[in-house]
Amino acid sequence: MSLTRPDLDALPPYVPGRSVPGAIKLASNEVPYGPLPGVVEAVTAAVAGAHRYPDMGVTELRGRLAERLGVDPERVATGCGSVALFEHLFRVTCLPGDEAVYAWRSFEAYPIIGATTAATSVRVPNTVTHGHDLDAMAVAITDRTRLVIVCNPNNPTGTAVRKAELDAFLDKVPGNVLVALDEAYREFVTDPAVPDGLVEYGDRPNVVVLRTLSKAWGLAGLRVGYLIGAPEVAAAVRKVITPFSTSLAGQAAALAALEAEPEMRRRVDLVVAERTRVVDAVRKVYPDVPETQANFFWLPLGDRSAEFAAACEQAGVIVRAFQGDGVRVTIGTPEENDAFLSVIL
Ligand SMILES: *Cc1c(COP(=O)(O)O)cnc(C)c1O
Repeated sequence: MSLTRPDLDALPPYVPGRSVPGAIKLASNEVPYGPLPGVVEAVTAAVAGAHRYPDMGVTELRGRLAERLGVDPERVATGCGSVALFEHLFRVTCLPGDEAVYAWRSFEAYPIIGATTAATSVRVPNTVTHGHDLDAMAVAITDRTRLVIVCNPNNPTGTAVRKAELDAFLDKVPGNVLVALDEAYREFVTDPAVPDGLVEYGDRPNVVVLRTLSKAWGLAGLRVGYLIGAPEVAAAVRKVITPFSTSLAGQAAALAALEAEPEMRRRVDLVVAERTRVVDAVRKVYPDVPETQANFFWLPLGDRSAEFAAACEQAGVIVRAFQGDGVRVTIGTPEENDAFLSVIL
């Protein structure tokens, strides 16, 4: 007899990138350069008020994000990482039997969320070049579909969909189906053909854009993500959110980080330069690494993935294996990347 739902036994757990003391961690798509300037001071000052609840409306941060993005603050919701906002989106869109369509392989949180909310997940296999198959995703939309996710760039393959393809796809999605553009890695995109979801599609009422302070902005440990959608969608998300889930420290840290945008850009430029260097080197051994627009790249190693990750770990470098499919490697500092390259070259 079980005290919890029997179907959870079949659910794969979310596997965090492992932190091994003394090892180089290239497993969780973090930026390696520490918190942005001003963040530690802002958090330290904020925790003097830690005995009080934070602002539940997240007014100042939502206002600052809205100003940066040129939208009304009503259209913004923040959450405990954008992963929590995905959970809220499943809840506000799907009743039992309703379908959520997304690419696979993609972000491993989607199926976990899908399995424990009312939604039925419909996974559409990636193309042979490891990107979203938008034509097949359009075909997978039925009259039960309430939510479609496009992860751009896609975690863990790094591939990105271009504007022309996404335009055509969005034109096929019925207006009563919400499309969530997961842009967790937007800041690392350098290909001008890859659209900024907010700039290009922000005026479509059925499009919602999700971003995070965890990656380029260096706040993974403080859990702040945000979405921009139509006012009714953002309001629905704010209604179902776990109260106070954007913490006091998270709000203060995010405000400070946003002040340090030039330094964020400088760090992202370092990562992007390293991405080019490392992927060029890796392709000499593994020519089928797909083009990446994120701060990681994908080695489609299939059944050799776990073995490859174990060999890296032996050499003191932690990468993320998805056994049977591939290995995701985060771009770190030049020294960290050299350590990885010395394992494989
Ligand atoms: C990292 C990531 C997120 C969000 O992470 P949070 O830390 O929860 O903000 C969302 N989507 C994808 C694809 C990611 O890789």
